[in-house]
Amino acid sequence: MTIKRITVVGAGVMGRGIAYVSALSSFETTLVDISQQQLKAALENMKLLAEKAVAKKKLSKEQSSNLFNNLHTSLDLQAVVKETDFVIEAVPEKRELKKQVLETIDQYAPNHIIIASNTSTISPTELGSYTTRPNQVAAMHFFNPVHRMRLVEIVKGLETAPETVHIIREVAEQMGKETVEVKEFPGFVTSRISAMVGNEAFYMLQEGVASAEDIDKAIKLGLNYPMGPLELGDLVGLDTRLNNLKYLHETLGEKFRPAPLLEQYVKAGRLGRKTGRGVYEY
Ligand code: NAD
Repeated sequence: MTIKRITVVGAGVMGRGIAYVSALSSFETTLVDISQQQLKAALENMKLLAEKAVAKKKLSKEQSSNLFNNLHTSLDLQAVVKETDFVIEAVPEKRELKKQVLETIDQYAPNHIIIASNTSTISPTELGSYTTRPNQVAAMHFFNPVHRMRLVEIVKGLETAPETVHIIREVAEQMGKETVEVKEFPGFVTSRISAMVGNEAFYMLQEGVASAEDIDKAIKLGLNYPMGPLELGDLVGLDTRLNNLKYLHETLGEKFRPAPLLEQYVKAGRLGRKTGRGVYEY
Protein backbone atom coordinates (compact mmCIF):
# COMPACT_ATOMS: atom_id res chain seq x y z
CA MET A 1 0.00 0.00 0.00
CA THR A 2 1.32 3.47 -0.83
CA ILE A 3 0.91 6.02 1.90
CA LYS A 4 0.39 9.56 0.62
CA ARG A 5 -1.79 11.34 3.19
CA ILE A 6 -0.98 11.39 6.91
CA THR A 7 -3.17 12.79 9.68
CA VAL A 8 -1.52 13.70 12.98
CA VAL A 9 -3.97 14.08 15.88
CA GLY A 10 -2.83 16.41 18.67
CA ALA A 11 -0.67 19.48 17.97
CA GLY A 12 1.29 19.47 21.23
CA VAL A 13 4.98 18.91 21.85
CA MET A 14 5.03 15.68 19.82
CA GLY A 15 2.25 16.13 17.26
CA ARG A 16 3.78 19.31 15.84
CA GLY A 17 7.19 17.64 15.57
CA ILE A 18 5.72 14.59 13.85
CA ALA A 19 3.72 16.77 11.45
CA TYR A 20 6.90 18.73 10.65
CA VAL A 21 8.93 15.64 9.68
CA SER A 22 5.94 14.13 7.90
CA ALA A 23 5.39 17.18 5.68
CA LEU A 24 9.14 17.52 5.16
CA SER A 25 9.18 13.91 3.96
CA SER A 26 6.63 14.70 1.23
CA PHE A 27 3.57 13.24 2.91
CA GLU A 28 0.42 15.34 2.47
CA THR A 29 0.02 16.07 6.18
CA THR A 30 -2.91 17.38 8.22
CA LEU A 31 -2.41 18.31 11.86
CA VAL A 32 -5.63 18.15 13.88
CA ASP A 33 -6.34 19.52 17.36
CA ILE A 34 -9.35 20.62 19.42
CA SER A 35 -7.65 23.94 20.12
CA GLN A 36 -7.16 26.63 17.46
CA GLN A 37 -4.60 28.21 19.75
CA GLN A 38 -2.53 25.01 19.81
CA LEU A 39 -2.67 24.76 16.00
CA LYS A 40 -1.54 28.37 15.68
CA ALA A 41 1.29 27.84 18.18
CA ALA A 42 2.31 24.65 16.36
CA LEU A 43 2.50 26.43 13.01
CA GLU A 44 4.55 29.30 14.47
CA ASN A 45 6.84 26.79 16.10
CA MET A 46 7.32 24.86 12.84
CA LYS A 47 8.01 28.08 10.91
CA LEU A 48 10.68 29.03 13.41
CA LEU A 49 12.22 25.57 13.18
CA ALA A 50 12.29 25.72 9.37
CA GLU A 51 13.74 29.25 9.36
CA LYS A 52 16.55 28.16 11.67
CA ALA A 53 17.22 25.09 9.51
CA VAL A 54 17.36 27.25 6.36
CA ALA A 55 19.70 29.73 8.08
CA LYS A 56 22.01 26.86 9.06
CA LYS A 57 21.76 25.44 5.52
CA LYS A 58 20.31 22.18 6.82
CA LEU A 59 17.23 22.81 4.69
CA SER A 60 16.95 24.53 1.32
CA LYS A 61 14.36 27.28 0.77
CA GLU A 62 12.62 24.96 -1.67
CA GLN A 63 12.39 22.14 0.89
CA SER A 64 10.99 24.58 3.41
CA SER A 65 8.35 25.87 1.00
CA ASN A 66 7.43 22.28 -0.01
CA LEU A 67 7.09 21.44 3.67
CA PHE A 68 4.50 24.20 4.21
CA ASN A 69 2.71 23.34 0.95
CA ASN A 70 2.29 19.78 2.26
CA LEU A 71 1.06 20.90 5.67
CA HIS A 72 -2.54 21.66 6.63
CA THR A 73 -4.30 22.16 9.94
CA SER A 74 -7.85 21.38 11.02
CA LEU A 75 -10.18 21.26 14.01
CA ASP A 76 -12.41 18.66 12.32
CA LEU A 77 -11.06 15.16 12.94
CA GLN A 78 -14.13 13.43 11.50
CA ALA A 79 -13.79 15.16 8.14
CA VAL A 80 -10.00 14.83 7.92
CA VAL A 81 -9.81 11.09 8.62
CA LYS A 82 -12.25 10.38 5.80
CA GLU A 83 -9.48 11.46 3.41
CA THR A 84 -6.37 9.86 4.85
CA ASP A 85 -4.17 6.76 4.55
CA PHE A 86 -2.35 6.81 7.87
CA VAL A 87 -3.16 8.34 11.26
CA ILE A 88 -0.69 9.12 14.02
CA GLU A 89 -2.47 9.78 17.29
CA ALA A 90 -0.55 12.11 19.66
CA VAL A 91 -3.12 13.31 22.21
CA PRO A 92 -2.23 13.33 25.94
CA GLU A 93 -1.37 10.05 27.63
CA LYS A 94 -4.84 9.48 29.14
CA ARG A 95 -6.55 6.23 28.31
CA GLU A 96 -10.11 7.61 28.24
CA LEU A 97 -9.06 10.36 25.86
CA LYS A 98 -7.14 7.99 23.58
CA LYS A 99 -10.19 5.69 23.57
CA GLN A 100 -12.49 8.50 22.53
CA VAL A 101 -10.13 9.69 19.76
CA LEU A 102 -9.53 6.16 18.42
CA GLU A 103 -13.25 5.43 18.38
CA THR A 104 -13.85 8.57 16.32
CA ILE A 105 -11.05 7.68 13.89
CA ASP A 106 -12.42 4.16 13.56
CA GLN A 107 -15.93 5.38 12.91
CA TYR A 108 -15.03 7.80 10.10
CA ALA A 109 -11.83 6.54 8.47
CA PRO A 110 -11.78 4.43 5.30
CA ASN A 111 -11.08 0.69 5.60
CA HIS A 112 -7.50 0.69 4.39
CA ILE A 113 -5.91 3.09 6.90
CA ILE A 114 -3.24 2.32 9.48
CA ILE A 115 -3.76 3.73 12.96
CA ALA A 116 -0.48 4.39 14.78
CA SER A 117 -0.33 5.76 18.30
CA ASN A 118 2.56 7.78 19.68
CA THR A 119 1.76 6.48 23.16
CA SER A 120 4.74 6.21 25.50
CA THR A 121 3.35 3.47 27.69
CA ILE A 122 -0.12 2.21 26.80
CA SER A 123 -0.61 -1.26 25.39
CA PRO A 124 -1.26 -1.27 21.63
CA THR A 125 -3.51 -4.31 22.16
CA GLU A 126 -5.68 -2.16 24.42
CA LEU A 127 -5.60 0.73 21.90
CA GLY A 128 -6.52 -1.69 19.11
CA SER A 129 -9.49 -2.94 21.13
CA TYR A 130 -11.01 0.56 20.94
CA THR A 131 -11.36 0.05 17.19
CA THR A 132 -13.02 -2.53 14.93
CA ARG A 133 -9.67 -3.12 13.15
CA PRO A 134 -7.05 -4.03 15.77
CA ASN A 135 -5.00 -5.68 12.99
CA GLN A 136 -4.32 -2.16 11.64
CA VAL A 137 -3.28 -0.61 14.96
CA ALA A 138 0.20 -0.41 16.57
CA ALA A 139 2.31 1.98 18.60
CA MET A 140 4.71 4.21 16.65
CA HIS A 141 6.76 5.87 19.35
CA PHE A 142 8.70 8.97 18.32
CA PHE A 143 11.16 10.91 20.48
CA ASN A 144 11.46 14.52 21.45
CA PRO A 145 12.53 16.67 19.59
CA VAL A 146 11.15 14.67 16.67
CA HIS A 147 13.15 16.41 13.94
CA ARG A 148 16.42 15.52 15.70
CA MET A 149 15.81 12.14 17.35
CA ARG A 150 16.41 9.27 14.99
CA LEU A 151 14.55 6.41 16.66
CA VAL A 152 10.99 5.18 16.25
CA GLU A 153 9.96 2.26 18.47
CA ILE A 154 7.33 0.09 16.81
CA VAL A 155 5.22 -1.94 19.20
CA LYS A 156 2.74 -4.54 17.97
CA GLY A 157 -0.41 -5.50 19.79
CA LEU A 158 -1.69 -9.06 19.94
CA GLU A 159 -3.83 -8.56 16.83
CA THR A 160 -1.48 -6.27 14.86
CA ALA A 161 -0.88 -7.68 11.36
CA PRO A 162 2.73 -8.03 10.09
CA GLU A 163 1.70 -5.85 7.13
CA THR A 164 0.82 -3.02 9.55
CA VAL A 165 4.31 -3.18 11.11
CA HIS A 166 5.83 -3.26 7.63
CA ILE A 167 3.93 -0.13 6.53
CA ILE A 168 4.79 1.73 9.75
CA ARG A 169 8.46 0.87 9.25
CA GLU A 170 8.34 2.17 5.67
CA VAL A 171 6.70 5.42 6.74
CA ALA A 172 9.25 5.88 9.55
CA GLU A 173 12.11 5.23 7.12
CA GLN A 174 10.71 7.73 4.63
CA MET A 175 10.78 10.20 7.53
CA GLY A 176 14.51 9.42 7.91
CA LYS A 177 14.12 7.38 11.11
CA GLU A 178 15.66 4.14 12.33
CA THR A 179 13.23 1.64 13.83
CA VAL A 180 13.27 -1.07 16.48
CA GLU A 181 10.50 -3.59 16.97
CA VAL A 182 9.56 -4.12 20.58
CA LYS A 183 7.39 -6.70 22.28
CA GLU A 184 4.34 -5.27 23.94
CA PHE A 185 5.15 -4.58 27.56
CA PRO A 186 4.33 -1.47 29.64
CA GLY A 187 6.77 1.32 28.87
CA PHE A 188 8.34 -0.56 25.94
CA VAL A 189 12.15 -0.15 26.14
CA THR A 190 12.76 3.57 26.22
CA SER A 191 9.86 4.96 28.31
CA ARG A 192 10.47 2.42 31.03
CA ILE A 193 14.11 3.44 31.45
CA SER A 194 13.47 7.14 30.94
CA ALA A 195 10.59 7.22 33.48
CA MET A 196 12.68 5.33 36.03
CA VAL A 197 15.71 7.63 35.69
CA GLY A 198 13.57 10.79 35.61
CA ASN A 199 11.62 9.74 38.71
CA GLU A 200 14.78 8.84 40.62
CA ALA A 201 16.22 12.28 39.82
CA PHE A 202 13.05 13.87 41.28
CA TYR A 203 13.38 11.75 44.42
CA MET A 204 16.99 12.96 44.74
CA LEU A 205 15.91 16.57 44.31
CA GLN A 206 13.23 16.06 46.97
CA GLU A 207 15.74 14.45 49.34
CA GLY A 208 18.21 17.31 48.83
CA VAL A 209 20.93 14.96 47.56
CA ALA A 210 22.18 17.70 45.21
CA SER A 211 20.85 20.77 43.41
CA ALA A 212 18.92 20.28 40.15
CA GLU A 213 21.88 21.69 38.22
CA ASP A 214 24.31 19.31 39.88
CA ILE A 215 22.08 16.25 39.43
CA ASP A 216 21.87 17.02 35.72
CA LYS A 217 25.59 17.84 35.48
CA ALA A 218 26.53 14.59 37.26
CA ILE A 219 24.45 12.45 34.94
CA LYS A 220 25.68 14.25 31.82
CA LEU A 221 29.38 14.33 32.63
CA GLY A 222 29.58 11.22 34.79
CA LEU A 223 27.30 8.88 32.85
CA ASN A 224 27.64 10.50 29.44
CA TYR A 225 23.93 11.19 28.94
CA PRO A 226 23.39 13.96 26.37
CA MET A 227 20.87 15.66 28.70
CA GLY A 228 20.28 15.57 32.44
CA PRO A 229 17.11 13.75 33.58
CA LEU A 230 15.59 16.91 35.09
CA GLU A 231 16.14 19.08 32.01
CA LEU A 232 14.81 16.21 29.92
CA GLY A 233 11.71 16.10 32.16
CA ASP A 234 11.15 19.80 31.44
CA LEU A 235 11.47 19.12 27.71
CA VAL A 236 9.13 16.11 27.76
CA GLY A 237 6.60 17.94 29.97
CA LEU A 238 6.31 17.06 33.67
CA ASP A 239 2.59 16.26 33.27
CA THR A 240 3.42 13.75 30.52
CA ARG A 241 6.19 12.29 32.68
CA LEU A 242 3.77 11.96 35.62
CA ASN A 243 1.08 10.32 33.46
CA ASN A 244 3.64 7.78 32.22
CA LEU A 245 4.80 7.05 35.75
CA LYS A 246 1.24 6.60 37.01
CA TYR A 247 0.60 4.04 34.30
CA LEU A 248 3.87 2.20 34.99
CA HIS A 249 3.15 2.27 38.72
CA GLU A 250 -0.26 0.74 38.08
CA THR A 251 1.07 -1.95 35.76
CA LEU A 252 4.61 -2.69 37.00
CA GLY A 253 4.37 -1.85 40.70
CA GLU A 254 6.03 0.09 43.48
CA LYS A 255 9.34 0.81 41.80
CA PHE A 256 7.52 3.35 39.59
CA ARG A 257 5.68 5.23 42.37
CA PRO A 258 5.85 8.90 41.23
CA ALA A 259 7.99 11.17 43.41
CA PRO A 260 5.69 13.40 45.52
CA LEU A 261 7.74 16.45 44.45
CA LEU A 262 6.93 15.69 40.79
CA GLU A 263 3.22 15.54 41.65
CA GLN A 264 3.54 18.91 43.42
CA TYR A 265 5.20 20.53 40.40
CA VAL A 266 2.38 19.33 38.16
CA LYS A 267 -0.28 20.55 40.62
CA ALA A 268 1.42 23.94 40.65
CA GLY A 269 1.28 24.09 36.83
CA ARG A 270 5.07 23.91 36.55
CA LEU A 271 5.01 21.60 33.54
CA GLY A 272 8.40 22.43 32.02
CA ARG A 273 9.35 24.32 28.88
CA LYS A 274 5.80 24.43 27.55
CA THR A 275 4.63 26.56 30.51
CA GLY A 276 7.88 28.52 30.86
CA ARG A 277 8.63 26.94 34.23
CA GLY A 278 9.37 23.42 35.45
CA VAL A 279 12.42 22.35 37.40
CA TYR A 280 14.08 25.30 35.62
CA GLU A 281 12.81 28.70 34.46
CA TYR A 282 12.65 29.46 30.70
P1 NAD B 1 0.83 17.67 24.76
O1 NAD B 1 0.04 17.84 26.00
O2 NAD B 1 2.01 18.55 24.51
O3 NAD B 1 -0.14 17.81 23.47
C1 NAD B 1 -1.33 17.12 23.31
C2 NAD B 1 -2.20 17.86 22.31
O4 NAD B 1 -3.39 17.08 22.09
C3 NAD B 1 -2.66 19.25 22.78
O5 NAD B 1 -2.38 20.19 21.76
C4 NAD B 1 -4.16 19.08 22.97
O6 NAD B 1 -4.90 20.27 22.69
C5 NAD B 1 -4.48 17.99 21.97
N1 NAD B 1 -5.73 17.27 22.21
C6 NAD B 1 -6.32 16.97 23.39
N2 NAD B 1 -7.47 16.31 23.17
C7 NAD B 1 -7.60 16.18 21.83
C8 NAD B 1 -8.60 15.60 20.99
N3 NAD B 1 -9.67 15.01 21.49
N4 NAD B 1 -8.42 15.68 19.64
C9 NAD B 1 -7.33 16.30 19.12
N5 NAD B 1 -6.37 16.86 19.88
C10 NAD B 1 -6.50 16.80 21.20
O7 NAD B 1 1.27 16.11 24.72
P2 NAD B 1 2.60 15.45 24.09
O8 NAD B 1 3.73 15.61 25.04
O9 NAD B 1 2.73 15.90 22.68
O10 NAD B 1 2.20 13.90 24.15
C11 NAD B 1 1.34 13.31 23.19
C12 NAD B 1 1.56 11.82 23.20
O11 NAD B 1 2.92 11.53 22.84
C13 NAD B 1 1.33 11.15 24.56
O12 NAD B 1 0.79 9.88 24.35
C14 NAD B 1 2.75 11.04 25.13
O13 NAD B 1 2.88 10.01 26.07
C15 NAD B 1 3.52 10.73 23.85
N6 NAD B 1 4.95 11.06 23.87
C16 NAD B 1 5.39 12.23 24.44
C17 NAD B 1 6.75 12.52 24.41
C18 NAD B 1 7.26 13.82 24.97
O14 NAD B 1 8.49 13.97 25.05
N7 NAD B 1 6.41 14.77 25.33
C19 NAD B 1 7.67 11.64 23.80
C20 NAD B 1 7.17 10.46 23.20
C21 NAD B 1 5.82 10.19 23.24
